[in-house]
Amino acid sequence: MSGKAKEKDSYLHKGMRRKLVETVRAKGITDERVLDALMKVPRHLFMDEAFLKYAYEDTAFQIGEGQTISQPYTVAYMTQLLEPEPGDKVLEIGTGSGYQACVLAQLVDKVYTIERHKKLFERATRMMKELGCRNVRTFYGDGYKGIPAFAPYDKIIVTAAAPEVPKALIEQLKPGGLMVIPYGEGETQVMLRIRKAEDGSLKMEKFDYFRFVPMLKGKVD
Ligand code: SAH
Repeated sequence: MSGKAKEKDSYLHKGMRRKLVETVRAKGITDERVLDALMKVPRHLFMDEAFLKYAYEDTAFQIGEGQTISQPYTVAYMTQLLEPEPGDKVLEIGTGSGYQACVLAQLVDKVYTIERHKKLFERATRMMKELGCRNVRTFYGDGYKGIPAFAPYDKIIVTAAAPEVPKALIEQLKPGGLMVIPYGEGETQVMLRIRKAEDGSLKMEKFDYFRFVPMLKGKVD
């Protein structure tokens, strides 16, 4: 984290964050690197200051434009499924607050993240600068199309409920790569992990159920 962010991250915040990490661990997250990354990223800075007391509870929270910052447990769960490696290039669909992108950025080489809401994109872009998350690049656009200019990606993470697995994302996934995507249109979505073999064939695994805001087409000014 850089200077400006450090000033806004007190011992009080760190103490609250340590408790949150223990809560997430108790719920079954075992990858120590993921738990470390959660400890490093000051989640309260991704939310309105008025809501500080919710920043270190294990819940999703409103961030404006009808969108939410994901629950820390969910962020940790998806990050663990993604099997992040230090050399990875990762694509995230649904920047939202930027929190998930910043957590991933602690574990991989480079994160490309795309958001369809202009206001959220602008805010997250500022946040990354303020926090010194230099290995995150933010984009404004429709995540159904991915970001072809920087493809292929070692890993792809979708943080909105996908009614289908977008074809463009499968194409932009490297052979040998992994995609984690909450799939389904109903109240809840099943977490899917898709592995693309070297020959391009796909293998799918199903995990737990979660509740996400929908992945929608097009962008919003
Ligand atoms: N990863 C975020 C969670 C955000 S919630 C965080 O850590 O805070 C999901 C986000 O996906 C919302 O901001 C929503 O606007 C965005 N989204 C939904 N459909 C999208 C699409 N097609 N392309 C890009 N972003 C999309």
